[in-house]
Amino acid sequence: MKVALRDDDTSYFTEPGKLEAVYHDVWDRVPVGLAVVPHAAGFVDKAIPEKYWEAERAFPLEENPALVTSLREHIAAGRVTISQHGFTHEDFPDGHEFQAAPDIEGRLARGQAYLEGVLSTRIRVFVPPHNALSKRGLAAVSSAGLNLLGSFLSFRPSMRPWDVHTPANWLRVRQYRQQTGRTRADRLVYPHVLRYQRHAEFGCHGLIPGTTFDELKRGFDEARAANGHVCVATHYWEVDATLKQVLVRFLDYAAGFDDVEFVAVERLFDTAA
Ligand SMILES: [Zn+2]
Repeated sequence: MKVALRDDDTSYFTEPGKLEAVYHDVWDRVPVGLAVVPHAAGFVDKAIPEKYWEAERAFPLEENPALVTSLREHIAAGRVTISQHGFTHEDFPDGHEFQAAPDIEGRLARGQAYLEGVLSTRIRVFVPPHNALSKRGLAAVSSAGLNLLGSFLSFRPSMRPWDVHTPANWLRVRQYRQQTGRTRADRLVYPHVLRYQRHAEFGCHGLIPGTTFDELKRGFDEARAANGHVCVATHYWEVDATLKQVLVRFLDYAAGFDDVEFVAVERLFDTAA
């Protein structure tokens, strides 16, 4: 059973010391899958320092050289892996970036190339800002061959671009809902990788203020009973002492099972040998 950890929103606005404060005793146990914003826009947002709220421009990661240096070191040490989290992470009147931005395809391609160049790493995974992806956004991610880590993407064929695997995957998810006594309205994090023609998808359990150890344990136990895997997704900027304690308790719990392997998020998508 694979257990992975994802952390969203590292960007120009991130002080490297903040990541270290949260993960210094975590990333040697499980590599942290940092979902990084390539050119983060300044706007009113809890994740952005107030002095940038009126900035009206986007900030390339390189304008924070201390962060770039520190990320390169953590990548080299195997403490973090990098995935792509949108391009500017800004919102539009009609929705979040990868639902409503113009030229989603260009943002995806530019962001991937930018992160690969600046951090000298390969990007294999895309995390949509706010876990929100339009049909067109999903088509772009799929043609780029990036795997997708989300939380509550729709599996309904009508909400997705055409793909030969969509009907069978939708049926698998529907059967799983029935087996676990869920209705269509009940929240579900499907514990298996769903493979499509050019990409694969996996859902994460959110660790946000208010999430308890028992909720994460329930998600883990359910995935385990289904021979599946688990990914926990959080944001370093809202991890306080309480959330940190929930995270460490969860890792301790998972580590108590002999067959649990803590892996980088990219490895969730490995095909079985
Ligand atoms: Zn985000």
